[in-house]
Parts: sequence; structure tokens; C-alpha cells
Amino acid sequence: PRRIFSGIQPTGIVHIGNYFGAIQNWIKLQDDGEDVIWSIVDMHAITLPHDPNELRQNILKLTATLLACGIDPDKSILFQQSTVPMHAELSWIFACLATMPKLAHQPQYKEKSEKLKDIPLGLYIYPILQTADILLYKATHVPVGEDQLQHIQLAEHLAQKFNSTYGETFPMPIAIVNKDTGRIKSLRDPTQKMSKSCSDVKSRIDLTDEPDVLLNKVKKAITDFTSEITYEPEVRPGVANLLNIHSMITGKTPEEICKEAEGLDTGKYKLMLADVIIENLNPIRKRIEQYMNEPQYLKEVLQEGARKAELTAITNWLEVRNKVGYGIGT
Ligand code: ATP
Ligand code: MG
Repeated sequence: PRRIFSGIQPTGIVHIGNYFGAIQNWIKLQDDGEDVIWSIVDMHAITLPHDPNELRQNILKLTATLLACGIDPDKSILFQQSTVPMHAELSWIFACLATMPKLAHQPQYKEKSEKLKDIPLGLYIYPILQTADILLYKATHVPVGEDQLQHIQLAEHLAQKFNSTYGETFPMPIAIVNKDTGRIKSLRDPTQKMSKSCSDVKSRIDLTDEPDVLLNKVKKAITDFTSEITYEPEVRPGVANLLNIHSMITGKTPEEICKEAEGLDTGKYKLMLADVIIENLNPIRKRIEQYMNEPQYLKEVLQEGARKAELTAITNWLEVRNKVGYGIGT
């Protein structure tokens, strides 16, 4: 049987990259009646320096956002990672199976550690915790953006290693990536992906952006010195990124949008795109605001989610304990 697991970090506000790259897929899988578990991965969120009050706020905001996007706590398990201690316990076992060179080669680690003088060990072993997140529930499928593919491959590798060391236990997790929406680029640097944690807020479109903020961000998006609108991802990555975003929202192909935008220069085109984005994000933003007015409800959702996650995890965890030799019998 299929079981779906994925996580998202409370490192900031959800942006359209997260939404189109991951969350939209989550909603679809949930509504298809799949067995789905979504985690707000707060343990991952402290791998880089953070402010505790901001983290608390972000956890609630992320909960509100996921509900506003369509996650239904009656159909999905939605919980906060740190409230289920088995994630940390299982990650230790995978830490003892993983090797240092393999971790050093992970692209996300390379990207995120580049600018740091002192690299936290947690950032280095992040993919091990991610492996534990997935395998604790014996998940078979993991819907993620393209930037997470290598991490899922590492999880597969470690599942294999555990199985060959201690006997058949874990299924091989498979990444589900939407090829068209898997990687939305930064508005300020189209060679980088859009990221929650990027210090330049103009690099991304957040789901909670007010219309005027949004318009300003789209206006400031980096394009190039050609004024017509053409879809050439290799030579015109900035314009192509805008067309991709436009295409995701409307379901039209980038080529169809270019036809519609015939005669417009990039400046005018940006106004047209901003309108489309504003109109589509407005209802979600309003729902997020409504949920944010009900913090007690959000906490209850997470508590109930933790209870269900724990129930799902415990049998697997006991099996693992026995297999590695922790279990000495009663
Ligand atoms: P951070 O900068 O803190 O890592 P993030 O924006 O990368 O934040 P994550 O919480 O790490 O967000 O990832 C949540 C999900 O969103 C993952 O499935 C990830 O692959 C996906 N995702 C993140 N950024 C993008 C993007 N630019 N395009 C498509 N999918 C993305
Ligand atoms: Mg990320």
C-alpha cells in the first residue's frame, strides 16, 4: 500500500514556489483519498540561526497557511515534527549508518553552508533527520520540489543500507516531483531557486503578500534588456521564470501567454502578471488571516495530528529497536 509523507520548514512565509512545487500536490493526493502525512519540520528549521519567538510564530502561521491551502485535518495527518520524539531517535540510527562523504556531497548543504563561517553540524546531518522523517512512517512516496531529489535518494540509500544490515524493514521511498512546477526561481536572481529563508524579501512572492507589495515585487523582478515577451529559459531565465509562474496559475502554456502578451514590453507584461497573481492569491491570503485569528484551533489541530502521527510511528519504531538490538525483551 502507498503511504505519502512530506515536510515543510517553518523558516518563513510560504511562497509560490512551495505552493506550486509541493503543497498543490499534497492537496491533490489528500483529495484522492491517499494515506497522507504532512509535517511542519521545526527541527530542520533550527539548523540555521533563528529567533525562538519568530519560530513559534512561523509554526502557527504555517499551520494556518496549510489549512488555508486546503489541507483537511480529517483527511490528512498534520503535525509538528518536534512533538514526536521518535524522529530524533530514529535519526540517530541512520546517523550511524550514513558516511561523511555522502553528506558532504548534498547540494543543499553545499548551497546553505557556502556563506557560513562556522557550519553547524545540524545543517550537515539535516538529510539524515529527513530520512528518519520519511522512514519512521514507512512512507513509499514523497511529494517534493526538484531541489529535494538528492535528499530522497539519500533516504532510499539509507533504507537499503538498514535493510541489508538488519533485515528487510523499510520500503524504498520514491520522490514525486511535478516536472513543470518543481523549481520556481528567485525573482531577484533566476539562477537561484525561490526560498523562504533568503534574506531578500523581494526575491519571492509570499502567499500572504498584500496586493501593493506583490505588485512592487513583480515590477522589481529581474528580467533583461530585451523588451518583447518570449519564452527562452536558457537565454532569458528571468522572463521565462515569470512566464512559468503565469503558466502555473492559469494553466495556459508559456507560448500561449507570449501570444497574449504580444505588443507588450516587459514593464507592461509585469502589470498584467501582477494582476493575475493578486487575483489568485487573494482568497488564500484572506483564509490565512481568518485562521490566524483562531490560534487555539490551530494548536488543537497540531495536537491531534501529533497523536495520530505517534500512533502510526510507534509500531515501526518498536520494530526498528528490536532489529538493531535495543530490545532486550520483557
Ligand atoms: P528554506 O529556504 O528555509 O529551505 P524553502 O523555500 O526551500 O525554505 P522548504 O521548507 O525547504 O522551503 O521546502 C518545502 C517544499 O517546497 C519542498 O518540497 C521543496 O522541494 C519545495 N520548494 C522549495 N522551494 C521551491 C521552489 N523554488 N520551487 C519549487 N518547489 C520548491
Ligand atoms: Mg529548502
